[in-house]
Amino acid sequence: MRVGALAVLGALVPLVVLATLTLTKSEAAVRHEVGARLRLTTALSSALVAEQVGSIVSVIEGAARRPRLVQALADGDPDRFDHAEIDQQLQALQEYRQGRTTSGLLDLDGILRGIPGAPELLGRDFSNRGYFKGVVATGGTYVSEAFVSAVRARPFVVSIATYVRAPATAGQSLGLPLGVLAASVELGEVQEIVDHVAAVQGVNLWIADQKNRLVAVPDGRPTALRPVASAPIDSVAEVPAGRLVDVDDGGEELLALRQQVLPLGWTVFAAVPRDQAYAGATAIRTTVLAIASPLGVMVCAGIFVLLRTQRRQWRAEAQLALARDEARNASRQKSEFLANMSHELRTPLNAILGFSELMAGEPADGDNRSVPSAWIDHIRTGGKHLLVLINDVLDLSKVEAGRIELFPEPVDLAAAIDEAVAALGPLLSDRKLRLTTTVPPLTIPTDRVRFRQILNNLLSNAIKFTPTGGQIFINAHRAGDQVHVSVTDTGPGISLADQARVFTEFSQVGDVKLRAGGTGLGLPLARRLAQAHGGDITCESETGHGARFTLTLPTAPHARPGAPPDPATTTAYPSGGILVIEDDTAASQLLRTRLERAGYLVTVAVTGDGGLAAARSCQPDLILLDLAVPGLDGRLVLKQLKDDLQLRHIPVAVITIAGDQEVGVALGAVDYFVKPVQHDALLGWLVHHSFIPPLDDHTVNVLVIDDDPATLAVVAEALQRQGVRVIDAVNGTDGLRLARAHTFDLIICDLLMPGIDGFTVIAALHDDPATRNVPVLVLTSQDLTQHDRNRLAGKTLAIMAKGSETPADLQGWIHHLTEITAVTH
Ligand code: ADP
Repeated sequence: MRVGALAVLGALVPLVVLATLTLTKSEAAVRHEVGARLRLTTALSSALVAEQVGSIVSVIEGAARRPRLVQALADGDPDRFDHAEIDQQLQALQEYRQGRTTSGLLDLDGILRGIPGAPELLGRDFSNRGYFKGVVATGGTYVSEAFVSAVRARPFVVSIATYVRAPATAGQSLGLPLGVLAASVELGEVQEIVDHVAAVQGVNLWIADQKNRLVAVPDGRPTALRPVASAPIDSVAEVPAGRLVDVDDGGEELLALRQQVLPLGWTVFAAVPRDQAYAGATAIRTTVLAIASPLGVMVCAGIFVLLRTQRRQWRAEAQLALARDEARNASRQKSEFLANMSHELRTPLNAILGFSELMAGEPADGDNRSVPSAWIDHIRTGGKHLLVLINDVLDLSKVEAGRIELFPEPVDLAAAIDEAVAALGPLLSDRKLRLTTTVPPLTIPTDRVRFRQILNNLLSNAIKFTPTGGQIFINAHRAGDQVHVSVTDTGPGISLADQARVFTEFSQVGDVKLRAGGTGLGLPLARRLAQAHGGDITCESETGHGARFTLTLPTAPHARPGAPPDPATTTAYPSGGILVIEDDTAASQLLRTRLERAGYLVTVAVTGDGGLAAARSCQPDLILLDLAVPGLDGRLVLKQLKDDLQLRHIPVAVITIAGDQEVGVALGAVDYFVKPVQHDALLGWLVHHSFIPPLDDHTVNVLVIDDDPATLAVVAEALQRQGVRVIDAVNGTDGLRLARAHTFDLIICDLLMPGIDGFTVIAALHDDPATRNVPVLVLTSQDLTQHDRNRLAGKTLAIMAKGSETPADLQGWIHHLTEITAVTH
């Protein structure tokens, strides 16, 4: 929003500035022009007025100098005045102004001595009149301020008076005064000038006399002499002459200025209405606005469109950012999960490794060691815990990949719940929790194992989060074609915000201390399993008031049937013939164990000399020689072996460190193994080179084909305890080779192996008449689809899943088998 406003401002401001500048400039220009015009008009008008009044003054002064008038005044003594001549002269003066001048003659005492047309005034004393006093005071011509005449139409008049002087004698600039010639002059011309200028220039004019009374105004001569203060241009009188000012004439704005009329001391005011003066500028303003407004609208519209587009982009960017944050969040959760998981995996692993080490360190009694059974329990518990974790992760990945297979069967709800509760019984009593179960008699079609898994998760969470002495309730009831099974606890509960999160993979909520030992996988997995059944799990809770998780399942079958099992195996069998010359006892011990488990007879020598001696005495089928053996150097031992006619035919494979292998081969070794020796590779090599251990006719011989050394070890261990000989094959090819070389009582085969897989091995065993009758047991960690099962049908004895029960299950099978063997033998 802010960006939008800024963009609009950014675009409009230059436009407004441009328009304003244009208008201001044009206004300034107009003002300048108006000022010039008014100054010119006032200058012109004041010149005209000055000239007008000046010309009258000249006429009166001319009349006062006329010799006949001067003569008529004799020496200034009124008694000797020639009154007839005076009257004639005065008459002539009045005619000059066509009756708009009244003239009179006063003697030097101010007594009126001549006035045409008003003899009644003769002899009156006018010595206290302004014009008389003005003349006496200045000695020159006097022009009075305006006044209203008492005669006829009461015109505005001014009085002009001047001395009538005797001719100047030598040495005098002026002659002696004889009398005073006075004239009252109407100011009609002044108003005419004003009217004329107003008409021609379109300018209003006012003219004020030296007392600031208006003698001419724009709308025709006023009836009385009023002060300038009564006119709109009043304020102009205050500012210096020639300066243009704004005047408010009762709502109308005027531009006005004034000018002095020299030398009268009068003032000309001129004004024009602002509107009229600015008409041109206003036209420009209208044009500019007419252009600027649509331009502004277009700019705004453009910005609006741009902003919308931009907003869309911002929104897209925000979504991207959201997706990025989600991805980061997911990645963070994954990291947390991995950290959690590795902690969880390490804990049981520590137990397994720690206790195995303790066991290894226990004093041996011949080949046996006695270890406390608690240690073995720890190892078993650790192993089981690991298995649960790994199974959860695998299950989840299967559900996510949509590969979960369900095997619904009619399950008695009450019995299934009792079973689950019984399994957790010890935990319940440890924590002194009271459990109340209310379940109606009901059978539902469900996958028994998965149902147990779901219930187990809900129950163990309830147990985990309920404080000691608390209560747990299990309730089940039917609602239409669904059954609801709820597990309610009196624990800390889950906040509303967290309720949705508990079903998200790897999410743990609430008190950190209580979460310990969890992975955040249980609930998501349980819910996915419920959904795979056509049901769901929901959560209701209030912080501080316990939690209720409700499992909903359909009462009619939903999930498609499938079939998963697993198997796997191993075993070893002894046979003579391999001499190991190796000084590192741990390494030689490992080699011996692995080889013996694979059925080979093994002799170990820890020095070069010892090795040579052993080779001579036992004539092995193969010598495994460590080139770094102490005493006689490995290379020397090899040379001596090859030089000795009795021994040179025995193949020697050297064990060496990386980079040294060529030496051994150069000295006549058949092959080499780089330390640390990969036992699978060694066993494979032996079978490839036909070093196949002989079978023992007196025992049950089992071939185990599996690429996982751990599985081989577990199976061998489990079966050897029953006196069974176990031969290992670490891949399908070796397995087939061994199976064809000997007749085994049982072949245990893994399915998923590099190279030839179990399905192919089993098919080949089945197709070969030599091996067809050997029973085959599949031991796999893979979940089998119906298609897989169909492929194996008729070719295998059974399919077993690898897991914690493997040894026991295998022993069961062997027991079964030996019974059969005993019968057949
Ligand atoms: P885990 O228990 O292994 O951490 P779950 O998926 O079973 O994983 O549970 C996820 C989280 O849900 C738990 O860590 C816990 O925070 C919360 N939770 C589950 N059940 C309850 C319960 N009954 N009471 C309180 N919190 C629970």
